[in-house]
Amino acid sequence: MSTHSQTPSFRSYLDEHLDRRRALGVLGVGAVATVTAACSEPSPDQAAGTARPAKNSPTASPSPPASPSPSASADNGQAGGDLTSSRDEIIEKYQDASPGMFGLAVSGVKLSLPDGSGAAALTLDACGGSNGSAADRELLNTLRDLGVPATLFINQRWAKANHTMMEEIVSEPLFEVENHGTHHLPLSVNGASAYGVQGTSSAAGVYDEIMENQEFLRTEYGVTCRYFRSGTAHLDETSAQICNDLGLTPVNFTINLDDGATLPAQTVASHAATLSTTDILLGHFNQPASGTGTGLAQALPQLLAEDTRFITLEEAH
Ligand SMILES: [Zn+2]
Repeated sequence: MSTHSQTPSFRSYLDEHLDRRRALGVLGVGAVATVTAACSEPSPDQAAGTARPAKNSPTASPSPPASPSPSASADNGQAGGDLTSSRDEIIEKYQDASPGMFGLAVSGVKLSLPDGSGAAALTLDACGGSNGSAADRELLNTLRDLGVPATLFINQRWAKANHTMMEEIVSEPLFEVENHGTHHLPLSVNGASAYGVQGTSSAAGVYDEIMENQEFLRTEYGVTCRYFRSGTAHLDETSAQICNDLGLTPVNFTINLDDGATLPAQTVASHAATLSTTDILLGHFNQPASGTGTGLAQALPQLLAEDTRFITLEEAH
C-alpha cells in the first residue's frame, strides 16, 4: 500500500479537551478506564457539527427499565449486524424504557476478551468530524510492519472523509472494521451527555446512530460489523440492550492508551506495557499529531519480544 504524508496539526484540538479525568478500576478490570477525549469533540463548532437525526424526539420520562432480553446477546452466534429487530420493533420495545446507568462500563458492554483468549486486542477509533478526520498512516504502517492485528472502529463521518483509505483498510487482512457510530454521539435513550456532547435522545435515535453507519459500511464497503463503540464510549444500559438486539456487541476497553489522543508517546507506551491477556486496549488512529502512534511504535516491539499475542475482537469471539 502506498504511503502519503499526513502533516495536519491537531494540537489546537488536543488542547481543547475538556475532561481528562481518570476513573480507575472500573468493574474491577484494574487497568485504566479513562475516557476518550478524541471521541468527545468538545469544541462548540464540533458540537454543532454533530447533527442529530431529525427523527429523534426527546423522551426522557422516567419509567421502569426494560426487562432484559436473554436472547439479545450478540455473542449468541448470530451473524453480527444481521438485523434481528426492525426500527419499529426497537421503538415499540424501548420507547418507555428508563436508561439505566450511563457511563463507560455499564451492564451489557463488553470490556475484555474471554478468559482463556491468551491474547490482547488492540482497538483504534477513527472519530471523524472537522477535527477528527485525519488518518494516522504511520501508525497503521507500524502495525503492518510488525504484523499486529487491530480492530478499527470507524465513524461514518471519518469513512466519508477517507474513502480511499477505507478501501485500503478493508482489504488489509490484519485489520477488522467495526462500527463507531453515525454522528459520533453517546448512546442514550434520554439525551445524556458526555464531555459536553449530547447523546441520542430516544430509542429511535439509538437505532439510527448504530444502524445508519452499519448500513453505510455494509453497502459501501461490504463490511458487516459485529461490534459497536459509541462516540465518547459512553452509553446507557438500555442502549447497550438495543445494540445487542441489533446483533452488535457494544465494546469498550480495559486499558485506555491515549486518553483521547491527548497523551505523549512515552505515556502511551507505558500504558501499553501494562497489558496482559484478555485486555482490550483503546487508542486512536485519526490524530497523527498525537503521541499514540509513536507510543505504540515504542511499546509493541518489546511486547512482541515477550510473546504477547494480539488478536482482533472477531478472532476472540
Ligand atoms: Zn470516537
